[in-house]
Amino acid sequence: MGNQPLIVLSEESQRTSGKDAQSMNVTAGKAVAESVRTTLGPKGMDKMLVDSAGSVVVTNDGVTILDEMDIEHPAANMVVEVAQTQEDEVGDGTTTAVVIAGELLSKAEDLLDQDIHATILAQGYRQAAEHAKEFLSEAATDVEEDDTESLESVARTAMTGKGAESAKDHLAELIVRAVQAVADDEGIDTDNISVETVVGGSTDESELVEGVIVDKSRVHDNMPQFAEDANIALLDTAIEVPETELDAEVNVSDPDQLQEFLDQEEKQLREMVDAIAASGADVVFCQKGIDDMAQHYLAEEGILAVRRGKKSDIQALARSTGASVVSNVQDITADDLGFAGSVAEKELAGDEKIFVEDVEDAKAVSLILRGGTEHVVDEVERAVDDALGVVAATLEDGKVLVGAGAPETALSLELRDFADSVGGREQLAIEAFADAIEVIPRTLAENAGMDPIDSLVELRSQHDAGNSTVGLDAETGEVTDAQDRAVEPLRVKTQAVESATEAAVMLLRIDDVIAAGDLKGGQGDDDEDDAPGGPGGGMGGMGGGMGGMGGMGGAM
Ligand code: ADP
Ligand code: MG
Repeated sequence: MGNQPLIVLSEESQRTSGKDAQSMNVTAGKAVAESVRTTLGPKGMDKMLVDSAGSVVVTNDGVTILDEMDIEHPAANMVVEVAQTQEDEVGDGTTTAVVIAGELLSKAEDLLDQDIHATILAQGYRQAAEHAKEFLSEAATDVEEDDTESLESVARTAMTGKGAESAKDHLAELIVRAVQAVADDEGIDTDNISVETVVGGSTDESELVEGVIVDKSRVHDNMPQFAEDANIALLDTAIEVPETELDAEVNVSDPDQLQEFLDQEEKQLREMVDAIAASGADVVFCQKGIDDMAQHYLAEEGILAVRRGKKSDIQALARSTGASVVSNVQDITADDLGFAGSVAEKELAGDEKIFVEDVEDAKAVSLILRGGTEHVVDEVERAVDDALGVVAATLEDGKVLVGAGAPETALSLELRDFADSVGGREQLAIEAFADAIEVIPRTLAENAGMDPIDSLVELRSQHDAGNSTVGLDAETGEVTDAQDRAVEPLRVKTQAVESATEAAVMLLRIDDVIAAGDLKGGQGDDDEDDAPGGPGGGMGGMGGGMGGMGGMGGAM
């Protein structure tokens, strides 16, 4: 084959092979990790991200930073995917996963320079990751479903050092209640917890509505504003006469004829409303429209009705009130109705909304988060999202680990022993993996203003002495037992190790990058949505753009 592929490539395409390709990919991956490193842990700093339209996000959340950064280098994007996978699988630990991936690449670089083959490295890393997951699983302790205290501590840990910090005790309580409420036999779907943000008030005043908040007002002013002990009907069809009947049949030649059709239409609407009223419904949520005349009839019957509800809201209402969604208004019966102790139209952040509360078994709930400004409340929401994820993961798996750098220290020591037992060239790769994992306690220490070397030495000696829950205290700068301070679900750690390893191995095994466009230097064709004034940019973002982010971190 020889050079043949070059002939079929277009003139603009670029090819980077061998060591150059590896070092380009490693540099790109490391740059991504470097860009979020300073945000790790309770004393991590925030980043301010400005997009091309000038809108600003201030955040400490790894995956949000990387998503907002609009990274284009393909190798860098593989590391961004690590954060995205972590977000999907657990919802927390995104920075951790990316930082580990970056360090795995960095350690691999040293070994590649010593002419260790990438395949050996990949094998060693995979073996290390496998062993790591087993070790962590064994080190984890059990948490029972009703152990509210431990669950709250998991939620608090996820919010430590984030926007939600000031109210984390209160929020942790709400979050655990919310997750416990939506848990059912099929597991936990945090989509059933809707989060509403309200600007104004303090985060401490955030609350949990054990029910559904529908972002609509009642459809007619003459309808009641609230209903107690309400029977609830859900419709995914309109309370209207289908228009086609009119279009197709009316060919008006005299006024009587028109009146007849209008009467006919009114009669049909009347029948629909009668069917709803006969079923005993006090409240109707309709996913489609409600005809003006029907609104009037419903108001006359004293029924509170909402039209054009979101499908997701209708489903949440079905889950929490026990109603079945009806597709044919005429067929509605009492059996289709759900129940709520209270349905009321209330104002939230200046908008009228319908609160459906006091349901028997709230399988869908709403968290109302408050914060002083929009940016504050957005960051509170991201912290709460992380906390919802970890509480759900803990309930599902029932396993937790102490955090604050303790598990990584223990793991690193364990992997060094394991490396000795493996021997051969893989041993070097496993040792590199063991070194890489220590990046977590080292970074936690650095970000907390502690001396990283002293802290690591102290951590190692404590763990050598069998104190497996000793970690860093970012507040006091001491190395002490972290059991009461930081508790995380096992899955945060195992998933981080798994995704970071996969991404590192994938990048290391590449020895040829063939790009249809320009990868290095120059501006790409498709860089119009780069941040204004952003250094580098385009595909050249690997060198210039990413370096720019590093500088941004340092500048804060
Ligand atoms: P990630 O995006 O990886 O979750 P975070 O900024 O949330 O990044 O930091 C998580 C790390 O901070 C974990 O290693 C966790 O154990 C650690 N951590 C959380 N709370 C504390 C604490 N009170 N003291 C020390 N470390 C903590
Ligand atoms: Mg976190």
